[in-house]
Amino acid sequence: MSDRPDACASCGRAPRDDEEASALLTWSRGTEGSRTVWTCPECTRTHARSIEGKLDSAWW
Ligand SMILES: [Zn+2]
Repeated sequence: MSDRPDACASCGRAPRDDEEASALLTWSRGTEGSRTVWTCPECTRTHARSIEGKLDSAWW
């Protein structure tokens, strides 16, 4: 069901057709309660910077 990304949890975009094959490797998988959430590579990078900047995790 959630074994591949359907939409980015942050920006809401879906994997592109040409991206889907590699999405499992490039998208970040996480869990929110009992849900599986996916974050696209772009947002993952943005978040990584936010984490390094020690922003409150509630921000994203
Ligand atoms: Zn995104």
